[in-house]
Amino acid sequence: MAAHPHAAAQAAAAENGGLHKGLAGLFTYSRRALALVWSTNRSLSLALGALTLVAGSVPAAIAFVGALIVDAVIHAAEAHRAGGAMHLGGVMSLVALEALLVAAAAMAQRGLSLAQSLLRAQLGQRVNVMILEKALTLDLTQFEDSEFYDKLTRARREASSRPLSLVMRTFGLIQNGVSLVSFGSLLVRFSPWAVVLLVIAGLPAFLAEARFSGEAFRLFRWRAPEARMQIYLESVLAREDSAKEVKLFELGPRLLDRYRDIFTRLYREDRDLTLRRDAWGFGLGLLGTATLYGGYAWIAAETVRGAMTVGQMTMYLMLLRQGQAAVSAALSAISGLYEDNLYLSTLYEYLEQPVRTGGGTATRGPRPGDGIRFEDVEFIYPGAAAPALAGVDLQVRPGESLALVGQNGSGKTTLIKLLTRLYRPTRGRILLDGLDLEAWDEGTLRRRIGVIFQDFARYQMLVGENIGAGDVRAFEDEGRWRRAAAQGLAAEFIAQLPAGYRTQLGKWFKDGRELSGGQWQKIALARAFMRDEADILVLDEPTSAIDAGAEAEVFEHFRDLTRNRIAIVISHRFSTVRMADQILVLEEGRIVERGSHEALMAADGRYAKLFTLQARGYR
Ligand code: ADP
Repeated sequence: MAAHPHAAAQAAAAENGGLHKGLAGLFTYSRRALALVWSTNRSLSLALGALTLVAGSVPAAIAFVGALIVDAVIHAAEAHRAGGAMHLGGVMSLVALEALLVAAAAMAQRGLSLAQSLLRAQLGQRVNVMILEKALTLDLTQFEDSEFYDKLTRARREASSRPLSLVMRTFGLIQNGVSLVSFGSLLVRFSPWAVVLLVIAGLPAFLAEARFSGEAFRLFRWRAPEARMQIYLESVLAREDSAKEVKLFELGPRLLDRYRDIFTRLYREDRDLTLRRDAWGFGLGLLGTATLYGGYAWIAAETVRGAMTVGQMTMYLMLLRQGQAAVSAALSAISGLYEDNLYLSTLYEYLEQPVRTGGGTATRGPRPGDGIRFEDVEFIYPGAAAPALAGVDLQVRPGESLALVGQNGSGKTTLIKLLTRLYRPTRGRILLDGLDLEAWDEGTLRRRIGVIFQDFARYQMLVGENIGAGDVRAFEDEGRWRRAAAQGLAAEFIAQLPAGYRTQLGKWFKDGRELSGGQWQKIALARAFMRDEADILVLDEPTSAIDAGAEAEVFEHFRDLTRNRIAIVISHRFSTVRMADQILVLEEGRIVERGSHEALMAADGRYAKLFTLQARGYR
């Protein structure tokens, strides 16, 4: 893992900036989280608020009634002893009242947890959709940027549960606040100092919480690269597409060790933090308890002195004990709020990541016959030392075909990615119909260009849907699937599949069928042919696993279909390449030769050499 120290340094650098922001706006995200919850489900939010008030105020009422019961009992007992009749009526109705209050408290708690779990499900879904919707607007370069990927991982891992937690804590804070005010208003009748004592007793535990939640968050941020590696290892070890190699190369135990090592390291850090957090929490909590028992002693002494009734004493002791619990609950809700805010900052950091707005609005260019034109185009991958493409000039007009030839890594795919505006040139410009690509409307551009890359996606869906993916508007149109499949030479083998076009592909789902490499490529070709509106068709080596005879047939087709269109092909097979009107030979990102097959053969340069080499191999 040579890349690791670098990634960690990057994360640490990102963290400094982020933490600063987190501290500055301690509760910046509370309002947004509340708004999020409110807009997710209003009636549940209202129920949550109302129940919170009930749950907050009932405990004090219970304590108050409890005191009345004790005093009423003592009073009735004294009267009875003095020779009077037994008067139980008053005591009994007080007991019944307390029972009712306890039932109300229980109901409020139940209701709270019900509303909470319903909201949790809705909110989790809502945040996940927000995260995915954002992902749809991102640039390809952002997906390839490890720092950005960390943000995405962090947002997905924690932040989806945090908005609700933040809101619940806010409500918890309100509930405990209401309890405290009601406790305080009873307690103050004993002494204002008792109220002060109550608050002081909760403070130490709060300080410990606040300190450690910040630390836990920093740990969490710093770890995103490791967490990502763990997720990745899980997918390598447990998914069918890599299972073959993992088995044959006996990589399993080795990778599992790596997975374990990461856990052990993370666990050690977690354990240290937890130990410190709990040790401090315990020590400071003890301090709080000591303060509290000082209060107890005081109240007991006052009762002995005759300053209050036994019933009042019971009430004050209960107020003190429950009050302290409420204070520390309120304080830890505050520190939890702080923590949730920190985590939410990662969600919003991700959601607010600037995206390039999709270019211009043009739906047509000034010179439709001009086709595609590259002018001195250069492209450097972010972080790369050398350009992947440099000084590229080319033009392809409608009705013409272009083939790109060159060794692996010579820049062929990069050129296609630039043409499809997945990346933007770092220098020079690309024109379509005489208009800069940047000025084109995103949707128009996407509809005009049909591309199949060598690493085309293999969707674990129906055969037909895999073809239909080429044109979302006809995603489920069986007639179109059939036509495209025929053009991509896929119809024949699809007919032999158990459920034809409705056969499930891939192994993730029930009855899924796996296809051979060549069959997948035919599916991909069919997908390209779905784009019958596109006037620029690009095939980036999607035929490498198809036998040479079939490939030639495919390209005959391809040529027929692209009569008035622009066709661009990347292939290592010269039998295919030679059919193109124009051939470009790329080397280290530069065009070193160009011309028709005949011209290049006559020039007897690199193309001619490679062609002869391959032709000899076939002979
Ligand atoms: P080809 O398609 O001709 O095999 P590519 O266009 O894929 O070549 O790659 C050209 C160069 O750009 C190579 O040196 C490769 O390492 C680099 N490269 C390709 N893709 C990326 C990427 N996503 N990020 C950084 N560098 C890349």
